[in-house]
Amino acid sequence: MIRKRPKTIIKERSSHTVSRKDIDENAVNVLYRLTRKGYTAYLVGGGVRDLLLGRKPKDFDVSTDARPRQIQRLFRTAYLIGRRFRLVHVKFGDVVIETSTFRCQPDPAAQEDDGSLYHHSDNTYGTPEEDARRRDFTINALFYDIKTFSVIDHVGGLRDLDRGIVRCIGDPDVRFQEDPVRMLRAVRFAARLGFTIERKTLKSITKYRDHISITPAARLLEEVYRLFPFQSGKRAMKLLHETRLLRAMMPELDTFLKRGNNALFWKCLEALDELGDDAGTPPNPALIFSVLVYPEYKKIIERESAKHGRVDDLQIARDVMAPFVERLKPPRRVFFDTIHMLAGQKRFQSDRRHGSPERFAAHPNFPESLALREVIVMAEGGDLDEIAEWKVLLEKVQPAEKRAERERERRPRRRPRRRKPTRDGKPGGKPHSKNTSSDKREKPSSD
Ligand code: ATP
Ligand code: MG
Repeated sequence: MIRKRPKTIIKERSSHTVSRKDIDENAVNVLYRLTRKGYTAYLVGGGVRDLLLGRKPKDFDVSTDARPRQIQRLFRTAYLIGRRFRLVHVKFGDVVIETSTFRCQPDPAAQEDDGSLYHHSDNTYGTPEEDARRRDFTINALFYDIKTFSVIDHVGGLRDLDRGIVRCIGDPDVRFQEDPVRMLRAVRFAARLGFTIERKTLKSITKYRDHISITPAARLLEEVYRLFPFQSGKRAMKLLHETRLLRAMMPELDTFLKRGNNALFWKCLEALDELGDDAGTPPNPALIFSVLVYPEYKKIIERESAKHGRVDDLQIARDVMAPFVERLKPPRRVFFDTIHMLAGQKRFQSDRRHGSPERFAAHPNFPESLALREVIVMAEGGDLDEIAEWKVLLEKVQPAEKRAERERERRPRRRPRRRKPTRDGKPGGKPHSKNTSSDKREKPSSD
């Protein structure tokens, strides 16, 4: 059965809940400046979806018919980014409003030489309706028009939002072949919003799940991290497991879970979610990895120490992380933090600690190890007073402000970008620092 294209629906202010006061003032500012100059400009994507659901959006993106250079001319702090598809980041202090020009689905005739549907780039400008249709899911393709205060729906997104459905725009078989990461995104939104993945979309995931392996590691890593904020890690991992996307991405973890090692794994994820917040703060990447591998790590430690007495904790930590390193290529710092968090667990037992508790708590890796310890104690139903005592000790030997200072120093410095002449011909092009959401491809991983 061919599903008819939904008719465009325009919902006026009186019949929806999106209010200007809930939109970041900088985004409102960008929208107004563009419209005053005669351009069409809408709030788009996740921001509109979340406002309609009564959730607080993480970021606000704008789409417009103004071209990147035209956008840049309107804002002093606008930076062109992206090599293939140019986006504009309009900066207001720490806030970045990502502003893109409406574009359409790439022309299939102009596609890859190998005949595949995979999109290596998508950079053709289009109409607002085309822009809605090239997006991934109907709930992510709604527009908010600041001029009329109305919500514009070209794809049936309002209905799906109402019913709690994640549905691909167009034919899911095609859309997942074009960009397999969309399968992970479907899982992300279903898990976060408590939505159901629509039947055809789900069926298509089971059909194309193996395609996920062609995704560049940096992009995969970023999408994996994005499964965990909003306390949705457990639900997301469950969905990955059920759809067998996990097997395609992480066969080793899938095999481990299949061998009946489920209980502690799911409890650890539950604890990680519980310690998170509903404001979308991302958990520390090393904490995510250490939670994912901890049950296996523990099992090997127990087995090896029963066999040989002594074990090399750090080596076992490296071994359990190896498949994740191979497939997701996390930054070195994340890798080292993860293995030290795991290997540090034994020191919480007094008989396996060299030196005093104070000495252990003064170690630079201690805060991370304690974060993992808390997850484990919660998952295993242990004594949370123990955690509270360690936290008091941590505050004593490494006060929060000292830790924050060290964290700032540890943060990797970005190499300055090659300077490009600005539009007035002077050298410039300040490096930007935002590396968040967006429609663009192949972003470098950052930690
Ligand atoms: P979040 O709240 O997690 O940021 P989001 O919906 O804003 O969710 P982003 O990854 O920030 O998601 O992307 C912004 C928008 O860009 C999406 O809402 C969607 O419309 C579009 N988009 C992003 N990635 C893709 C993709 N791979 N294919 C098609 N459209 C995409
Ligand atoms: Mg976003």
